[in-house]
Amino acid sequence: MEKIKMTTPLVEMDGDEMTRVLWKYIKDELILPFVDLKTEYYDLGLEYRNETNDQVTVDSANATKKYGVAVKCATITPNAARMTEYNLKEMYKSPNGTIRAILDGTVFRAPIIVKGIEPYVKNWKKPITIARHAYGDVYKATEMKIPKAGKAELVYTDEDGNETRELIHNFTGAGIIQGMHNTEKSITSFARSCFNFALDQKQDLWFASKDTISKKYDHTFKDIFADMYEKEYKAKFEELGIEYFYTLIDDAVARVIKSEGGYIWACKNYDGDVMSDMLATAFGSLAMMTSVLVSPEGYYEYEAAHGTVQRHYYKHLKGEETSTNSIATIFAWSGALRKRGELDGIKELIDFADRLERASLKTIEDGYMTKDLALITTFENPTVLNSLDFIKAIRKNLEA
Ligand code: NAP
Ligand code: MG
Repeated sequence: MEKIKMTTPLVEMDGDEMTRVLWKYIKDELILPFVDLKTEYYDLGLEYRNETNDQVTVDSANATKKYGVAVKCATITPNAARMTEYNLKEMYKSPNGTIRAILDGTVFRAPIIVKGIEPYVKNWKKPITIARHAYGDVYKATEMKIPKAGKAELVYTDEDGNETRELIHNFTGAGIIQGMHNTEKSITSFARSCFNFALDQKQDLWFASKDTISKKYDHTFKDIFADMYEKEYKAKFEELGIEYFYTLIDDAVARVIKSEGGYIWACKNYDGDVMSDMLATAFGSLAMMTSVLVSPEGYYEYEAAHGTVQRHYYKHLKGEETSTNSIATIFAWSGALRKRGELDGIKELIDFADRLERASLKTIEDGYMTKDLALITTFENPTVLNSLDFIKAIRKNLEA
């Protein structure tokens, strides 16, 4: 069989630990035999990040701006323990944070739905994608403990030195305060990424906040979304028969549980943090969650939602057998290859991505799975495979 040709390289960001092991298995078994793979390779493994003072991460993000599509392996975000383990020169920032800062994107996370792994919410039939705004609010807040009675105010001093003050509270005893912010620029690019992604996926977009209580802060989010929708997206949405829907966050939570899924749910930073964990768990497993960073300019970076699965890696290093789920990483590859195919007009590549995903899901639906899924499946007597044999079982289906 002739291999599928590519015209533009994918930006390939290799990573760490168990997912780095899976990365190679996936390429060797599921990609290279079928695709004449073109990538520009960046090694984001912690050793090489340390060697290059993290320049490689910056370079990989800039390459994504050049080529438009990247596929990323999970990477270690260093902490104190990693400083000693890898003898690091510096406690480098999270690669995802660095890449996100350069591409200025929004992260979209969606569960992979497969027979045998049933959502806890019984009426959920289609995936629900969370779009999380990844800047500001409580994650960049300033806080203060108030020790005793006194007056707390918000003070804004403009460039010309004019002051505006608002009373927060007249404390009669001890308490706490918090000041947080966001910017029009960041909210605008969040909104744009969400509208573009909804068009790309041909799915409804929901957005929710608490504008009835937060009449200036949350209301600004609501207004920016509404204004952009009216001016730039309404006609395109109507053409595709999809809708943009705004509601209060508490109403949205109630509706999500009663829905059958199949839409994108845009969330402010904190709501997205909390709700994506709720969704991943309710749909079954973090190892069955795709994640893509979409920039407002239309650059795409595909990855798995989980980390480097450190505990399994240490077993692997000791020569023990592991049963690590590679589905989310496989779907990062299929997502990136499909997007490359769409951008370059290569139908064979799009079809291959579809087939790779179908073969992966069929493997599970036939009862062959990794240990994490065997623990939660509704199938009786599933066959538990090790990390490599699971990928080989997918290859068999792909060839068939
Ligand atoms: P993790 O790698 O997601 O793993 C946490 C636990 O979840 C594992 O120990 C395993 O449970 C289970 N798990 C996760 N993915 C799995 C898979 N594919 N197959 C089977 N089980 C899976 O999170 P972590 O251990 O907290 O973090 C490890 C490293 O990953 C850290 O250095 C962190 O910085 C990094 N990280 C990177 C990213 C990213 O690059 N996007 C995201 C999060 C964390 P059992 O051990 O019970 O089997
Ligand atoms: Mg969280």
